[in-house]
Amino acid sequence: MTERLSGHTELIGLMATPIRHSLSPTMHNEAFAKLGLDYAYLAFEVGNEQLEDGIKAIRALGMRGSNISMPNKQVVLNYLDKLSPAAEMVGAVNTIVNDDGVLTGHITDGTGYMSGLKQANVDIIGKKMTICGAGGAATAICIQAAIDGVKELAIFNRQDEFFKNAERTVAMINEKTDCQATLYDLADQDSLRLEIASSAIFTNATGVGMKPLQDQSLITDPTMLRSDLVVADVVYVPSETKLLTLAKEQGCQTVNGLGMMLWQGAAAFELWTGKEMPVEYIRELLFKN
Ligand code: NAD
Repeated sequence: MTERLSGHTELIGLMATPIRHSLSPTMHNEAFAKLGLDYAYLAFEVGNEQLEDGIKAIRALGMRGSNISMPNKQVVLNYLDKLSPAAEMVGAVNTIVNDDGVLTGHITDGTGYMSGLKQANVDIIGKKMTICGAGGAATAICIQAAIDGVKELAIFNRQDEFFKNAERTVAMINEKTDCQATLYDLADQDSLRLEIASSAIFTNATGVGMKPLQDQSLITDPTMLRSDLVVADVVYVPSETKLLTLAKEQGCQTVNGLGMMLWQGAAAFELWTGKEMPVEYIRELLFKN
């Protein structure tokens, strides 16, 4: 590392809290080193209260940019100069690029999800997806899928504080894209069965399947899954959620959330550096077991 850093090294940040557990600094610094790029990536414990100063620091220090994570992904919109079309539709930002003092906010979670599917040879363009979730991950995925040309989205969520997010997402998609989106209460299991039956892919974009809900799956009846359905999960720890185990037993192709995680990072990496992240190298390095 000391051999790599110089007076010319450009800084990229990650502003979130809590953040010390994040794999992003390792992922990006290893990728910079592998490609011989003169950047350094550091995590900063920054919450909503410090965020405005943090964003000002990007300009003041001439940083190349930053990742933004919870709880700052929506609040940060107040402090940026421009937004990508997807970030504007999602209403959230996870990546900032500083071009000579002009800060543009992007959201790469949705492109990360779509690239992860592509990498797994799953093509959902022109097809229908049923998806559970209405939080940050689900919103980014639904908006990007609609922008990229997914034909139909059936979105299910329980009646909690996230349900109104999904109402906004559905309205936005139906107004601004050619995709047809419909929202259902997750309690409506008959509709869930019917929508999955006419979908090419089912995606879990909730935390169900991850600790502390690792013993749960939003699909409990295996007859809802057929062997030519792709089943995807945004969760990647554990690498095989209860949903994916159930889907495998039904003969479905499964995709976990690791691809989304790696490719959202790769998309940000490319926005900052103009170079492709060596994704397979990073996957081997960080997730070989
Ligand atoms: P969030 O808090 O914004 O949203 C949580 C969502 O889960 C909501 O839709 C909520 O209604 C739903 N939910 C929670 N508990 C539920 C339950 N018991 N039953 C039914 N629905 C329930 O969270 P988020 O940021 O959208 O993250 C969701 C999941 O996606 C997490 O597991 C997170 O780790 C994962 N994630 C993965 C990636 C990746 O790169 N693979 C990126 C972001 C998030």
